[in-house]
Amino acid sequence: MTARILEGTQFVAQISFELAAKAALQIQTHGFTPDLAIIAWKNEAGDSASDVYTRQLRRAAKHVGIALHIHWLRQDTSTDELLPMIQRFNAQKQIRGIMVQAPLPVQIQKIALKDAIDPDKDVDGATAANIGNLFLKQPAKLPATCLAVFELLDRSGIALDGKRVVIIGASPVVGRPLALMALHRNATVTVCHIYTRSLADFTRQADIIIVAAGKPNLVSAEMVAPGASVIDVGINITEDGQIVGDVDFEQVRQIAGAVSRVPGGVGPLTNLMIMRQVLDF
Ligand code: NAD
Repeated sequence: MTARILEGTQFVAQISFELAAKAALQIQTHGFTPDLAIIAWKNEAGDSASDVYTRQLRRAAKHVGIALHIHWLRQDTSTDELLPMIQRFNAQKQIRGIMVQAPLPVQIQKIALKDAIDPDKDVDGATAANIGNLFLKQPAKLPATCLAVFELLDRSGIALDGKRVVIIGASPVVGRPLALMALHRNATVTVCHIYTRSLADFTRQADIIIVAAGKPNLVSAEMVAPGASVIDVGINITEDGQIVGDVDFEQVRQIAGAVSRVPGGVGPLTNLMIMRQVLDF
């Protein structure tokens, strides 16, 4: 038996439709179109790795009915120049989301910058206030990638209550918030990372494996229990320019019950989760 393939792309139209209805309601109620402000960086040649990503965000915003403004800054912009800009965005009522594109230029004080964003407008759940609220299980804006993982599981009918969930990756942006979110969904959670010994001993016990390590083929078929669900968050570019995840997809699909594809699994839902949080006001 081969695994069911979990495709985020399959749910994009439905979620966009739901969000467009929500946007229309918000526009009617508040009398303005919600705006997502994105701060992004150009290099000296004038191009940017953010171009592709911002184009995808623009497309998602357009489908949903959110206004999106990209504020391109020079690579040598200082934190002191940036903070007043964020404060201005915080004060503008039609701006309902503020995002700062990673990677940030080295001179920018990352934490000071993120924490300058009004937590209600922090649509990628990056501020200490939102992370603290996640920890306390209080309402919070959450990291969009993590929301996309749960959206894919929920819409695919894979429940978390009482399940053994093994997360590979413990970064503050993906692995750690995923662990808390899975815990809040009544899963029994194990977090593995680069120092974990005998990774397979943990993963073989899992009903659900979620991997966000950034290592192609990290999860092999021998590491997966028959029938388990495997969610691949990894995005890696191979030497020949292919995008692959962290799972040995062709092997794992022979044993797993369900496995997400890269690209096309979690990724397509991430931008929509940003839009959902823009509309959540
Ligand atoms: P990171 O480098 O900050 O963290 C990687 C984590 O994986 C660390 O905790 C590390 O200990 C762990 N790890 C690395 N190698 C390991 C190994 N061999 N065994 C066990 N654990 C190991 O990366 P990140 O920012 O958390 O991103 C992780 C991956 O998810 C990357 O591929 C990234 O591109 C991808 N990502 C995807 C999305 C999306 O929307 N799908 C969004 C953000 C990040």
